[in-house]
Amino acid sequence: MIDAIDTGTRVTRSAPPLEREELLRYGRHLLLPEVGINGQRRLKAARVLIIGAGGLGSPAALYLVSAGVGTLGLVDFDQVELTNLQRQLLHGTRDVGRPKLDSARDRLFDANPNVKLELHPTRLTAANALTIIDQYDLVLDGTDNFATRYLVNDACVLLGKPNVYGSIFRFDGQASVFATTDGPCYRCVYPEPPPPGLVPSCAEGGVLGVLPGLVGTIQATEALKLILGIGTPLVGRLLLVNALDAQFRGVTVRRDPRCPACGTRELTALVDYDQFCSAPGGAATGLDAVPQIEPRDLAIRRSSGEAIQLIDVREPHEWEIGRIDGARLIPLHRLEAAIPSIDRTVPIAVYCKAGTRSALAVQDLVAAGFRQVWSVSGGILRWSREVDGTVPEY
Ligand SMILES: [Zn+2]
Repeated sequence: MIDAIDTGTRVTRSAPPLEREELLRYGRHLLLPEVGINGQRRLKAARVLIIGAGGLGSPAALYLVSAGVGTLGLVDFDQVELTNLQRQLLHGTRDVGRPKLDSARDRLFDANPNVKLELHPTRLTAANALTIIDQYDLVLDGTDNFATRYLVNDACVLLGKPNVYGSIFRFDGQASVFATTDGPCYRCVYPEPPPPGLVPSCAEGGVLGVLPGLVGTIQATEALKLILGIGTPLVGRLLLVNALDAQFRGVTVRRDPRCPACGTRELTALVDYDQFCSAPGGAATGLDAVPQIEPRDLAIRRSSGEAIQLIDVREPHEWEIGRIDGARLIPLHRLEAAIPSIDRTVPIAVYCKAGTRSALAVQDLVAAGFRQVWSVSGGILRWSREVDGTVPEY
């Protein structure tokens, strides 16, 4: 009997024999002494869960399924959008509007019909995370938000499952393996979620299309190494990838004895982290207290002749893509310096791409004594959808 997994998990099960077709399909693995028939059988017995069928989950799922990982679980509740296709290789143009899990299933079965796919069409929450994750040997975190990232980490620590972590933003990526028996967890490295709105999402800040390919493939590599028990896993190291400079840098990260998850173990149950983190659509729930104006209301009030200053706090290259007529460009980082030049007697509507930066700007303006200030809810994206379709989405 061969144990399926013996690295950092409690799971052991007998590895099934390989069929003739599989011997051929995985022939290039069988040539590697580090994999061989026994390793391939381990892969076949392994159960891997990928959270998110997006940028990171796409290459990771394709490679793991093609490599012969026997059972792949996928958690996702989104539908395919046109903006996904720049980087999310599981989905194609014909899939726009379909659930991501449907297009993922089609693509992955085509890559390898021998694997079992277990689809979880749900958002991972504190209520279901332990039940779902407990069914797998290891987790590959392909989420795009801090709330789920902390949730995945804490669930993995509680259950003793390795958490193969990856994240991407603009031209930078990170990868590591957290929550193993002897390594640190995500919380050891990032003890608290960032303040709401401080870190823009990829929808706000953009991402180079190939970057999730790099990072997701590193995650898949680490998952295979853990299953096979070969090489040196990215435990205790945070790999930093910079695509622009072609730099890969490994930073040592250590288990923090004060970490509430893996150190003191005072964290004994999961909570939902939405109160700290960005909500879907780009607006940060912590910034919800900021006065908002609906794009349609703004359009109606302006067209009825009401004087409202319009301030665009995006970056100049975003302004070039499209803008709302009559707006003044003041990128968020220059707002403080520009405050003396802003008319205090006329109400102000501030917008950005999706509503996070504008909410931060409104907080700053209110703190500086401005009275009538709103953040345009949903930013120029909602303006484009609901008011003026000639403003391009990006
Ligand atoms: Zn920890």
